[in-house]
Amino acid sequence: MNQLDSILAANRNFVRPNAFPPLSKSPKKQIAIFTCMDTRLVDFLEPAMGLERGEAKVIKNAGNTIVDPMSGAVIRSLVAGIFMLGVDEIFVIGHRDCGMAEIDAESVKRDMVSRGISPDVIDIHVPDLKQWLGIFSHPVENVERVVKILRHNPLIPKDVPVHGLLFCPNDGHLDIVVNGYTRESFADGLVAEQPDGTGTGNCCI
Ligand SMILES: [Zn+2]
Repeated sequence: MNQLDSILAANRNFVRPNAFPPLSKSPKKQIAIFTCMDTRLVDFLEPAMGLERGEAKVIKNAGNTIVDPMSGAVIRSLVAGIFMLGVDEIFVIGHRDCGMAEIDAESVKRDMVSRGISPDVIDIHVPDLKQWLGIFSHPVENVERVVKILRHNPLIPKDVPVHGLLFCPNDGHLDIVVNGYTRESFADGLVAEQPDGTGTGNCCI
């Protein structure tokens, strides 16, 4: 059975009339989470935060990075969440052992070319492949950077706290990187509380 057939078969078993109560499209806890698309976070990050279906907006991309600080897709989703759907607090959540840390952009480019992507197309459309992919050196540094970008984005109201957290994809614990309630989180030089052991980028267990 291929993936599509497998998913459709699972879905036939999943759907039952009146099994799921109707929910508002606005998040019950009025929060938005911006995190990584890492597979280990699926069905794991939300329960680790005590969140259930209907309680939070969740925006994901590779490495929870922002490559267009002013008006890119992440900003658009957050602005829509704030002004259309009742979001009043943002949580940027990176994670240890992130696959987007310290990737070799040249190696990615070689793989793309070997799969038939034209090098000219890459050079024309994404001349700075490393920046476009959002590759970073350390997940904590990336969370600090993203919080700073959001905090200073003129489209995001100053009364919306922007927190930064680091998640462990193995044991599910969260460390605080930036407490969005503090005055320091509004300063240019974000002073982050550095959780133990994050200097290596390795996982916690
Ligand atoms: Zn990741």
